[in-house]
Amino acid sequence: MLARQVHGTKLLEHGSGMQGWVRTGEGDGHLTSERGLALAVSIADCVPVFMVHPSGTIALLHSGWRGTAAGFVTRAAAAFSMLGMSPKELRVHLGPAICGRCYEVSADVREQLTGHPANRPGQVDLRSLLAEQASAAGVRQISMSPWCTRHDNERFFSHRAGDAGRQVAVIMRRL
Ligand SMILES: [Zn+2]
Repeated sequence: MLARQVHGTKLLEHGSGMQGWVRTGEGDGHLTSERGLALAVSIADCVPVFMVHPSGTIALLHSGWRGTAAGFVTRAAAAFSMLGMSPKELRVHLGPAICGRCYEVSADVREQLTGHPANRPGQVDLRSLLAEQASAAGVRQISMSPWCTRHDNERFFSHRAGDAGRQVAVIMRRL
């Protein structure tokens, strides 16, 4: 299951009856309780956000600065909540993405991300911001990949490094 990603905050919920490789319409996140349905997002500097509830419901988000500024992970935690699953029981993992030292953004983007006035470009750490948002939403188990797509560029594709390639992040419920 892969969607056309538009750096938004639309979370697509998937039920049963899917077969083979499916490319859906617009969306930057997927959620399902179905066994054997793999969810995928493509990434090169943005953050793949893996979310798992012990009941077996899973979600996977593609969160760059726009998704992060718009509170995508908070919305996704709320989607679990609406389905009767407490964010306190979620596990969230933030996968390989550009790190805070490598990611410089404009003053405007910094303001949108941090909520504080900024008058010059500066570095932001998307994964730290996402971890704070998840924590504020009630998530207790949060882990973070140590890899940076930009400075570990021999191992990963990085948009900022000029790569056209993308990583694919995948999550699937097996049991
Ligand atoms: Zn880095």
